[in-house]
Amino acid sequence: MTGDLHLHSYYSDGVYSPSAVIEKAVAAGCKVTALTDHDTVDGLDEAESAADALGIKNIPGVEISARKGVDVHILGYGIDKLSRRFRDFIRAQKEGRRERAQLLLEKLSEHGIDIPLSEFDCPIKREISRAHIAAAIVRLGYENDFHTAMRKWLHPGSATFVPTRGAAPEVAIEEIHAAGGLAVLAHPVRLDLDAYARSALIKSLTSAGLDGIEAYYKRSSHESVSGFKSLADSLGLFVTAGADFHGDGNEIIAREQPEEITNV
Ligand code: AMP
Ligand code: MN
Ligand code: MN
Ligand code: MN
Repeated sequence: MTGDLHLHSYYSDGVYSPSAVIEKAVAAGCKVTALTDHDTVDGLDEAESAADALGIKNIPGVEISARKGVDVHILGYGIDKLSRRFRDFIRAQKEGRRERAQLLLEKLSEHGIDIPLSEFDCPIKREISRAHIAAAIVRLGYENDFHTAMRKWLHPGSATFVPTRGAAPEVAIEEIHAAGGLAVLAHPVRLDLDAYARSALIKSLTSAGLDGIEAYYKRSSHESVSGFKSLADSLGLFVTAGADFHGDGNEIIAREQPEEITNV
């Protein structure tokens, strides 16, 4: 089945509602989708209704922000979002996000960047990310553009950086499995590690139960895709494709996805 397994809505840092995301995915040729908001499953019911109405399949998904020296994002597919244990895990992840956002705002304030909490008012109960903070820095006139705001104030190495407070990736994998799902390493190409450390991490996550890696990511180069595909083959992992769609900046893709996921 062809589709895109990495889509964000306004329940995290995407621009559109879950239904609008699914409509756009159908228009892009997807027969299967997965809404994978950061540390929240609040958009999944709407995504599922929209997918049903349009005659495609939406896999219940999530993107867990984990940390192991660097950011490691673990996608969960086919999770039972109502399981007691998974809800507790997601609650802790959301709590960590809120604490981190608060610390970031305190540090920014110490550096003369004052962002009132009202900047984050929103009718939807969404999870705040660095993307929202970077947008607020620009809106309030402290920087001219989003990428400068990110690079100067919110990236590792900047004086005001605060790391994600998420779980270890091994824990994310375990929790996804306990909720009946499959765990896939998101955008391995974006891991902030050299090639050797990246392979070592993927091997160690495979020992911890990782099921797949997102070898096709956005506009990844052919070399990057084939490198991750052969690593996946050698480790017995399946490969997925995802656009990491947040809005109109990047196109939703429609690629063949592994049956292990589309049959859940
Ligand atoms: P967080 O999940 O709070 O660490 O926020 C990071 C989010 O910001 C990512 O999920 C991206 O969607 C978005 N983002 C956009 N540009 C960048 C960038 N240059 N560096 C990091 N995150 C970015
Ligand atoms: Mn994001
Ligand atoms: Mn990610
Ligand atoms: Mn993502």
